[in-house]
Amino acid sequence: MTVREILNEKGHEVVTLTPDVTVAEAVAVLAKHRIGAVVVTNGAGVIKGILSERDIVRRLAEDGAEFLKYKVSELMTANVKVCAENHSNNEVMEIMTNGRFRHLPVERDGKLIGVISIGDVVKRRIAEVQREAEEIRSYIATA
Ligand code: AMP
Repeated sequence: MTVREILNEKGHEVVTLTPDVTVAEAVAVLAKHRIGAVVVTNGAGVIKGILSERDIVRRLAEDGAEFLKYKVSELMTANVKVCAENHSNNEVMEIMTNGRFRHLPVERDGKLIGVISIGDVVKRRIAEVQREAEEIRSYIATA
């Protein structure tokens, strides 16, 4: 299964913010949409960073609630790994496992067109494994 197929199933909608908004606003957006990370763009689809709940928890432990006034640009990871629509589900899983993160924005022609989460890839991998097992069982039964 490819990233293109996953996006066709789940949709292309991505919750984004610009780097100049406050961390307090970002926290409200994460809570409202019940998501674990928000992609930071320039407002015109160019990816500038990613801010995850992990970044927020880490900074909370270091600085206390003071950082809620900071701009998202001060907390986000600016060096974002992305994937393209022709990446496979397994390739995306490998990128996430190696990078130790759970979100991967999808880019086309330098613009954000979707996001894949670890939940998306694991769900489809489980379905694939179940299908394979079913095929093997029916092959054995008819052999
Ligand atoms: P996550 O597991 O996705 O919640 O994120 C864990 C850490 O990795 C946080 O510091 C994020 O800012 C960072 N991160 C998340 N996704 C990416 C990505 N696609 N590229 C680079 N860093 C990321």
